Amino acid sequence: MSNGAPAAAELAINGGAPVRDRPLPYGHHCIEDEDVQAVVEVLRSDWLTTGPNVREFEEAFAAAVGARYAVSFSSGTAALQGAVFAADVRAGDEGVTSPLTFCASANCLLYQGATPVFADVCDDTLTLDPDAVARRITLRTKVLLPVDYAGHPAEMDAIMTAADRHGLVVIEDASHALGATYRGRRVGSIAHMSVFSFHPVKHITTGEGGMVTTDRPEYAQRLRRFRSHGIEYAPDRRRREPWYYEMVCLGYNYRLTDIGSVLGRSQLRRLDANLAARRKLAKAYDVALGTLPAIRLPEVRGDVEPAWHIYPVRLWLERLTADRATIFRALRAENIGVQVHYIPVYLHPYYRRRFGSLQGHCPVAEEAYSRLISFPLFHGMTDRDLEDVVQALAKVVRAYSQ
Ligand SMILES: *Cc1c(COP(=O)(O)O)cnc(C)c1O
Repeated sequence: MSNGAPAAAELAINGGAPVRDRPLPYGHHCIEDEDVQAVVEVLRSDWLTTGPNVREFEEAFAAAVGARYAVSFSSGTAALQGAVFAADVRAGDEGVTSPLTFCASANCLLYQGATPVFADVCDDTLTLDPDAVARRITLRTKVLLPVDYAGHPAEMDAIMTAADRHGLVVIEDASHALGATYRGRRVGSIAHMSVFSFHPVKHITTGEGGMVTTDRPEYAQRLRRFRSHGIEYAPDRRRREPWYYEMVCLGYNYRLTDIGSVLGRSQLRRLDANLAARRKLAKAYDVALGTLPAIRLPEVRGDVEPAWHIYPVRLWLERLTADRATIFRALRAENIGVQVHYIPVYLHPYYRRRFGSLQGHCPVAEEAYSRLISFPLFHGMTDRDLEDVVQALAKVVRAYSQ
């Protein structure tokens, strides 16, 4: 440098040494010896699927979130579809959901012949804006499907009130929010049905798996039928032949295995510790990144305790000399596994083809999308990992600041 200032570290994207030698993923599972032990025991038992561990995991999960029933599924996506079925959504019906989510939150409506309708999000939390939802409700609307973006609960009281007013069912996509609370209530005990995912990047894992929680026995019954071919396994056996069962609706094989269930049960015992670790990391990010003028931190309302599935920041692009893609590539080159959550669902080619261009339909979500970058956040992350992210971001932001 000609002005005598100490040379800033060369960016890895320009051939400099990366901050880390090995890539840090944005999310990662954590498997302990006790998990392995539990799975091995099941592998040596009589039940690999639909055995005692399924029921035990469901009961423990229902208790953990404060719901009467929990019905497990082979994935969070299957669980979402099951919830849409249980809500009696049919061809021609509409469901209002967020565009700023994983596509499964909307696809579940398409699977059952319904149409996803996208309402915009609040600028602070990036969860569904209840006023925007109200404007999208029509005579065909059957369900509202809020998403707890990043683990921050959606505005559930306003959404439940709107649903009551119009006779709608609320399915909360709580895939990011296991362990979060909203106005002192646990996510999983608020909506008519709440859906969780046990994909390895989520708070607890079963490999693949999902769960729906509800307080209503009729939903629980429909969910159980749907995940197992539409079969009712316990018709009145006294009046029937002993082999008798009946298929009463069109279902699928969406069952969670005993192997997955025992892993989930074991993981659930560490949920509080996982949450504490994620909250500590989020706080550390807040402190370390709060001084960077080019970064807008994720915002938390006063009436929630988020579960921190991801840590999404927004870039003040006006204060940077590079666009989001360049910052993103520069961070990846430093071996920081950044991600973007999410491309607004209706901008995907399939949705464009099917519903036409909806560009500009949800301006807050689209504006957020153009600025978002998620930083690594998982309960097994070390202090050193976190320091690497902060150092890499400071390095990249400094290089591209005006
Ligand atoms: C993870 C996730 C799902 C479900 O995913 P599966 O991989 O099918 O378990 C649904 N919605 C959101 C918002 C998710 O993050």
